[in-house]
Amino acid sequence: MRKRELELLRKKLIEKKEDIKKIVQGNSKEEEDFFSTEVGDIADAASDSVERELLFELNDNERRILGNIEDALQKIENETYGICEKCGKEIEIERLKAMPFAMVCMKCKSQMEPHRK
Ligand SMILES: [Zn+2]
Repeated sequence: MRKRELELLRKKLIEKKEDIKKIVQGNSKEEEDFFSTEVGDIADAASDSVERELLFELNDNERRILGNIEDALQKIENETYGICEKCGKEIEIERLKAMPFAMVCMKCKSQMEPHRK
């Protein structure tokens, strides 16, 4: 994978992570900006524990995606990002662009999910 693509996907992952956090917090961006001058420092100091607490408020799907995002970011650090967890081949770049936190390639994914009746 090219470095430029990797960087793009990393940004997408971080954005997605922030999106999920915002959903959970129920805050709009405007509210955040409005309060940031007063609570900014406290929020920074508390962010670690808040992050952990948030995990309990997420629904299963959001929690799963957030977990995958964390894994994907870790893999970028370890330079193992974009490798299918099932077959060990590279995940299609188009698939990663659509779903940067994908853990398996298209082929393995279709084999894992039983067809709905
Ligand atoms: Zn695969």
